Amino acid sequence: MRDATPTASHYVDGAYLEDAEGAAIEVIYPATGARIATVHSASGQVVEAALAAATRAQPAWAALPGVERGRVLRRAADILRARNRELSELETLDTGKPLSETLVADATSAADALEYFGGLAAAITGEHIPLADGDFVYTRREALGVCVGIGAWNYPTQIAAWKAAPALACGNTMVFKPSETTPLCALKLAEILTEAGAPPGVFNVVNGLGDVGAALVADGRVAKVSLTGSVPTGRKVYAAAAQGMKHATMELGGKSPLVIFDDADLESAISAAINGNFYSTGQICSNGTRVFVQSGIKEAFLERLAERTANATLGDPLDEATTLGPMVSAAQLEIVLDYVARGRAEGARLVTGGARVEREGFWIEPTVFADVTDDMTIAREEIFGPVMTVLDFETEDEALARANATEYGLAAGVFTADLTRAHRMAAGFEAGTTWINTYNLTPVEAPFGGSKMSGVGRENSAAAIAHWSELKSVYVSLNPTEAPF
Ligand code: NDP
Repeated sequence: MRDATPTASHYVDGAYLEDAEGAAIEVIYPATGARIATVHSASGQVVEAALAAATRAQPAWAALPGVERGRVLRRAADILRARNRELSELETLDTGKPLSETLVADATSAADALEYFGGLAAAITGEHIPLADGDFVYTRREALGVCVGIGAWNYPTQIAAWKAAPALACGNTMVFKPSETTPLCALKLAEILTEAGAPPGVFNVVNGLGDVGAALVADGRVAKVSLTGSVPTGRKVYAAAAQGMKHATMELGGKSPLVIFDDADLESAISAAINGNFYSTGQICSNGTRVFVQSGIKEAFLERLAERTANATLGDPLDEATTLGPMVSAAQLEIVLDYVARGRAEGARLVTGGARVEREGFWIEPTVFADVTDDMTIAREEIFGPVMTVLDFETEDEALARANATEYGLAAGVFTADLTRAHRMAAGFEAGTTWINTYNLTPVEAPFGGSKMSGVGRENSAAAIAHWSELKSVYVSLNPTEAPF
């Protein structure tokens, strides 16, 4: 293993913590299937130690001036950027995503979040509300307390930082549980936050299976839960949070539409379809997996798409020339292959790909289906792999109605040269995150999150502050208090 590999299974109270009592979790490099590390699922003792540390640390952390909390976050951002290469290599080993991606999308994205919320920390303030006769109300934006973050396996560093940065900026402390599939990267974030000056207990990481997440969510000391994961897990975690009336943010799955009109810049639209289906081997929640193409340009679109898809370079993810990595796990590969089989069986036309790549690890060809109809399984269910479905449409009204005909509402995109149509579509999409003439760009400055079954709450941007803090109002009277008797 590389030098950057974390030295223990958990990070609690400012230090690595090992406890071999819990079940062993083998960490597999998806490109080869080789075991690269073993961590242990957190025992009850480890969960208790993490929650106790976060509870102890929270009042003093919240009492620091925002500018001091922000300084810690901004120092952590600098460290992440300085170590980007080694952290990117670790992310590649943890997830299988190619280094050409991880060098620009993971530790760097985490650094952006820490820098942004580090800068915002001193600007988290209340307001003054004048009333009659000189009375007034002022509001205080206060920390929630101990928060729990639970992550999926596709962006282990980014997910941890997108939750930790705003949480810590607001004066909360956090216990974070990574996905059991990718347990390594969040530990590095914890180590770096300590190095940047975060007091012990402010950010803790406990690894483990879903039951560890469930134990965290159920604990009475926890004020807020933020999950990135699938809809079925979201339902469970949201329901468990409701039992304790906890705040909750749910960043869940999607089946997002990308609508391409015949006046669009074709090469840009194809780039967006490629990025929105094959980046991270299709393992991105906001992917535009239902690509609606206006019928007049359909064949030209498919021909050029197939040509460009053939240029994907599958290979050693640690080689920067590689542009497409493996699936994260053998289980996820099987799920995706099963969807490909269903696409064929239900009559979709396979334009390219569709086969497992015969090499060690969990590889599949980038796959495009055309002539897909709205009722096919591959057009309705989230696949979470490199499988693009192309659907034809004739009119704008039809495209919008079909784009919205899904229980999900995470994201949506439109490509057109018609300015008014672009904004009509953006307004009409039932989705939390939308793009015009681009796809899947998620800068920290922009709110990110879903509508409908894709979740509640927003991450990133100043909007996230409202989800990681609570408003207290303070009424101040300058007048005598009267009573009826
Ligand atoms: P899961 O929903 O299976 O798991 C997400 C996390 O929740 C994991 O850490 C998991 O632990 C944990 N967990 C599972 N059961 C419980 C429970 N009962 N209580 C508390 N925690 C629990 O998602 P995957 O990791 O398989 O990730 C893929 C899914 O995530 C996709 O469907 C995708 O759409 C979604 N996703 C959404 C994103 C968004 O921002 N909207 C971004 C990325 C992914 P363990 O892994 O140990 O089972």
